[in-house]
Amino acid sequence: MESKKRDIRALTREQLRDFFVSHGDKAFRGNQVYEWLWQKSAHSFDVMTNLSKATRDMLEENFVINHIQVDQMQRSSDGTIKNAVRLHDDLVVESVLIPTKTRTTACVSSQVGCSLDCKFCATARLKRMRNLNPDEIYDQVVAIDNESRLYFDRPLSNIVFMGMGEPLMNYNNVLKAIEKITSPEGLGMSPKRITVSTSGVPKLIKKMADDAVKFKLAVSLHSAVDETRTSIMPFNATFTLADLREALVYWYQKTKSRITYEYVVWEGINDQRKDVDALVEFCRFAPSKVNLIEYNPIDDGDFQQASNKTIEMYVETLEKNGITVTVRRSRGKDIDAACGQLANKSGS
Ligand code: SF4
Repeated sequence: MESKKRDIRALTREQLRDFFVSHGDKAFRGNQVYEWLWQKSAHSFDVMTNLSKATRDMLEENFVINHIQVDQMQRSSDGTIKNAVRLHDDLVVESVLIPTKTRTTACVSSQVGCSLDCKFCATARLKRMRNLNPDEIYDQVVAIDNESRLYFDRPLSNIVFMGMGEPLMNYNNVLKAIEKITSPEGLGMSPKRITVSTSGVPKLIKKMADDAVKFKLAVSLHSAVDETRTSIMPFNATFTLADLREALVYWYQKTKSRITYEYVVWEGINDQRKDVDALVEFCRFAPSKVNLIEYNPIDDGDFQQASNKTIEMYVETLEKNGITVTVRRSRGKDIDAACGQLANKSGS
């Protein structure tokens, strides 16, 4: 039977305080519950031991805590961990812990499935079911922070919104989750350690700039040639490169924060001299750097990683033009946890 109780984590601290006052109790109880929910990530009212049994029962009668459940955890031979995360309505998303020598990065999902249809991406094959709530995003981060402490003896250091979904298509909830992650009442992480990676929705990039966000911006560019980009990321027909460029210039003017372009080089798609020249041109509009990402085939279809020689051509040309470039090897390939591979294969 569907629960009519409200999700308590949709309430602000103020609303919780008001709830207690309206039930004849002290407002500070609201603070206590808020701390249990956000700082201690309580999964049930029973663990709130500084509340009386009667108060816990009263909360139980009125609310639910729709906490995520890590259904299945897979560990890669390179240390990467992938979580299949079950939501309160039984839908499943995935999030990934990526360890390096010095940092632990959480790659989190923002939607169940995705609203966009990038041809090279496994998530695109799952239709968008719904946006994640702020607390469902927050919970993924907490779960990975706990795993980082348990398996690597250190807290989570970085977060990328690069899992399932287009984060800007769930703008408000992603921003609310980041607010919680960065607030002292949540995880207290620096926004500089958080990167929102978008396929490039110009209007919302401008909105982020207007909202003076403090986190970093990455754009999955993959081609700076309209025709090519539209063939692999069909929404580019609507959000063209010219619009994207204008939004990115606006972003930089307002935030002074350098942009990262995520870029995969595929054989026969964007592996020509004209492709790298177009990328160099695109990089001139606002201070930026390029991450060349290794591709993980999602089947034996149309997309194959370009040769090392082509990657070298990209690196040399970009460097010659004074553009910072890094080549990122993929992690967690053996458990389908690498970029573009998240598709709930481990789910139910
Ligand atoms: S690459 Fe990102 S935006 Fe494109 S379909 Fe996949 S999850 Fe969505």
